[in-house]
Amino acid sequence: MAHILVTNDDGVTAPGLLALALEMRKLGQVTVLAPDHNWSASGHVKTMHRPLRVKEMQLLDGSLALASDGAPSDCVALAMLGLLPEKVDIVVSGINPNANLGHDVTYSGTVTAAMEASIWGLPGIAVSLNSPENHHGALDYGPAARVAHRVVRTVIKNGLPGGVLLNVNVPYLPDEQINGIRITRQGLRVYRDRLDERVDPRGRPYYWIGGDAPTGVVEQGTDFGALAEGAVSITPLHLDLTAYQALEFLSGWQFSEDGGRNSLKGG
Ligand code: MN
Repeated sequence: MAHILVTNDDGVTAPGLLALALEMRKLGQVTVLAPDHNWSASGHVKTMHRPLRVKEMQLLDGSLALASDGAPSDCVALAMLGLLPEKVDIVVSGINPNANLGHDVTYSGTVTAAMEASIWGLPGIAVSLNSPENHHGALDYGPAARVAHRVVRTVIKNGLPGGVLLNVNVPYLPDEQINGIRITRQGLRVYRDRLDERVDPRGRPYYWIGGDAPTGVVEQGTDFGALAEGAVSITPLHLDLTAYQALEFLSGWQFSEDGGRNSLKGG
């Protein structure tokens, strides 16, 4: 039976985490180890300059979970470094209440937890829900949790190529309206951040990164394209960020002024 580590970036009490953990329990043995507070948009973190604490707590269904004061990626690292007595087979992160698309992936705590899994040689799966921007009240994580079940079941069966993680984004639709599952490439996020400068009570300026919610370029074959068609997007990612198409361009550069070889001696 697969041992599934469930984590997230919204904190261990987030409803998306419970919905995911409940579905994952149908697939294997589940350990929940998640941050004790919200780390959304915290990026890929390794906490090295303070201790990490872990405490036992209960999820809303009464089941046991572990909460850490570290980041989502710290939670995965803690498990890998021996905090858990039993070997983990797969890491599933989410369900994030908002989509993680395009350039979001390096900001996203949800995705960076899955990145940490790939560093440890394990399959990592990040699951996010593309909830409407103006949604009020509780979100229904049911359809996204059932999609996560299908995806994780398939990954347990087929495995993933080494170093590959999956970024899964689910449209906010009832089960029967979800328009299938597409394998996609990362699209282009369009951020609309604006700097909001204010003045504190002592007359010093401070700043908020504000502005409007980001949009994205809807293009066929991308994560944005799939969601625009009401489909689930699965983007395989890896941590090799090399710009391969730039290697040849840069290899022709001369770093010495006399046009000689690229040696730092002389030239
Ligand atoms: Mn989040």
